[in-house]
Amino acid sequence: MSNSPEWVLAALEERKRQALFRQTVVMEGAQVPSVNINQKDYLAFCSNDYLGLANHPAMVKAMHDSALTYGVGSGASHLVNGHNREHQNLEEELADWLGYERVMLFSTGYMANLGVIAAFAGKDNGIVQDKLNHASLIDGAQLAGAKMRRYLHSDLNSARKILTSFTQEQEKSTILATDGIFSMDGDRAPLAGLAQMCQQNDALLMVDDAHGLACCGESGRGSMALEGLTARDVPLLVGTFGKAFGTAGAFVACSHDFADYLTQFSRPYIYTTAMSPAIVGATRASLAIIRSEEGLMLRHKLAANIAFFRQAVSKLPIELGESETAIQPIMLGDSELALRVSDTLKKSGIWCTAIRPPTVPKGSARLRITLSAQHDFEQISHLVNSLSSAIATRN
Ligand code: PMP
Repeated sequence: MSNSPEWVLAALEERKRQALFRQTVVMEGAQVPSVNINQKDYLAFCSNDYLGLANHPAMVKAMHDSALTYGVGSGASHLVNGHNREHQNLEEELADWLGYERVMLFSTGYMANLGVIAAFAGKDNGIVQDKLNHASLIDGAQLAGAKMRRYLHSDLNSARKILTSFTQEQEKSTILATDGIFSMDGDRAPLAGLAQMCQQNDALLMVDDAHGLACCGESGRGSMALEGLTARDVPLLVGTFGKAFGTAGAFVACSHDFADYLTQFSRPYIYTTAMSPAIVGATRASLAIIRSEEGLMLRHKLAANIAFFRQAVSKLPIELGESETAIQPIMLGDSELALRVSDTLKKSGIWCTAIRPPTVPKGSARLRITLSAQHDFEQISHLVNSLSSAIATRN
């Protein structure tokens, strides 16, 4: 018999009743499109390893080499003695790639967002956010106790109205934060319009480009590069390594002054152990690939896969959103239906986890299909055929 308090058990029961219960599944082997789960082979279409770098031999070797030189643990926070040559090199290489004065590493993207927002927003100055921003941006504001207002998704008029009224109420600059590419919908934020609006209102634009960096834009420099924006337009840029970079961790790119400011006031930077130097070594190898001819080829392959998928689905009675990115959601609405369709796909050997609230707004459960440069057209055709029958028999 369980000793757990009644309220814990009741909360679990309620989640199950709402078809919102979540649990982990164990994947055998590396993060590749062909996966083995519960002794069955599947083709996965839900990973964020968009370029297929998570198991790249050059990165596995770089991690090994780096561990031989620097060990596997950094041993302390950046400000004690955990910041070694490997961290410094990666920061400088990222700054050079993106055209920023400074880059600071964080252990995860969640912490980077928390760390920036808690340092730059608070009781005296607020933050304006897109309604569909990633949970870590929203949580950052809530945990920092910052005043927060949210505008309608990608709606410049709504953003302007909120930003101007907010700006008049406070002495310090307002932060406006947006995903570069929205994590659950795959569409791009109107960055050029937001940048101009922030300049007019003396606000600071913060972009979390977790899903754009390495995947799009010249040299893989992401959503900003697609719109010709630079560090002047986006003073705070967050990137993560757990997605197209194929490793783990995150960074903030900013000016010297902002980096010095974060070093003093960003508690999720100060009070945590620096990333493992071995992972930093693998991430340096990843960045080298992303900037090379091979990276360009992988981005071309990814773009071809996205186009192939969209073209194949356009012949089916399935509505796709605006997304031109690796994230291609299929809206199902009801959580139970999303689980059912995901289960039907499993029977045809496709693994695509149903995404349900609270990750997405109520009534907008979906299959978040993600494509990778490692998929081939035959695999994508199999996905589309399976989707076609799963959707046709969904009831
Ligand atoms: N920002 C966005 C837009 C994300 O999608 C995610 C991860 N889902 C994060 C931040 C958090 O990054 P990490 O996984 O490194 O904590």
